[in-house]
Amino acid sequence: MARPVTFFFDLDNTMYAEDLGIVARIDQRINQYLEIRLGVPAAEVDGMRRRFWAEHGTTLLGLMSRQAVDADDYLRYVHDVDLADLLAPDERLRALLARLPGRKAIFSNASRAHAARVLGLLGLDGAFDTVIGLEDLGYVPKPQAAAFRIALDRLAADPRASTLIDDLLPNLRAAKQLGMRTVWIGAGAAPDSAIDHVVARVSEIERIFCEAASHGV
Ligand SMILES: [Mg+2]
Repeated sequence: MARPVTFFFDLDNTMYAEDLGIVARIDQRINQYLEIRLGVPAAEVDGMRRRFWAEHGTTLLGLMSRQAVDADDYLRYVHDVDLADLLAPDERLRALLARLPGRKAIFSNASRAHAARVLGLLGLDGAFDTVIGLEDLGYVPKPQAAAFRIALDRLAADPRASTLIDDLLPNLRAAKQLGMRTVWIGAGAAPDSAIDHVVARVSEIERIFCEAASHGV
């Protein structure tokens, strides 16, 4: 029996263009959370975030390792940014997702509420079989293997019949280690053999997957 094909899509800077500046707005909110909610001196915020990223992968995990932080309060705070002026319905992407032969999931290190809001503004409500956010991952983000296990289990997906589409190379390298196919939202040539395909925008995956399917590859 043929294995079902499953596509895992990252959300931020994958489903919309990085140059919209959405992640920059969220970064500002993370800085504000550290300064305003936790009282970290402004001059120390950058260094603290860099250290947390290096040691824990995210600011949230770094904070959780140090002190009692309400993860859901943190996620609500940092994703409380205006997006309606930046995102608009993407009819072309919606149609492409409908044509894509396989199951589709959002697999994001952001909160479920943020994912729902972004998808709503992009006009992509209901375009995915499931939306996996950081809460579903027990707050342990990609590229950690535990995050991938939860995402694959959610859809009972075989990694060798699954694809990750993401803008961050560490996430794609982790996916490749599990046997997944990888598509980098990036520019230029694939930087290493962990990257199977490079596209500038998510809409360009059509030439990889829809044409391959129609030719029976
Ligand atoms: Mg991303």
